[in-house]
Amino acid sequence: MPFYEYKVREGTRGCPKCAPGFTELQRLADPPLKTCPRCGAPVARQISAPAIGRSKSGFDDRAKAAGFHKLERRGKGEYEKKY
Ligand SMILES: [Zn+2]
Repeated sequence: MPFYEYKVREGTRGCPKCAPGFTELQRLADPPLKTCPRCGAPVARQISAPAIGRSKSGFDDRAKAAGFHKLERRGKGEYEKKY
């Protein structure tokens, strides 16, 4: 099972667990965490693929340039295409 890195979203203070980032052991089939299991703050999974990089700033632009689409979950089975 892979470890995934999560970090509290920018603009959110988080807690001692999620502010510096934490790893979570998850099955591939598990959905990514949306919130910190400790404090409930919104968290984002950190993408560690070298081609994309670890920095969050500019990630959307690079993903867009690379032809990825960003989908935001709006509800059960509903996704909104951001670009
Ligand atoms: Zn937290």
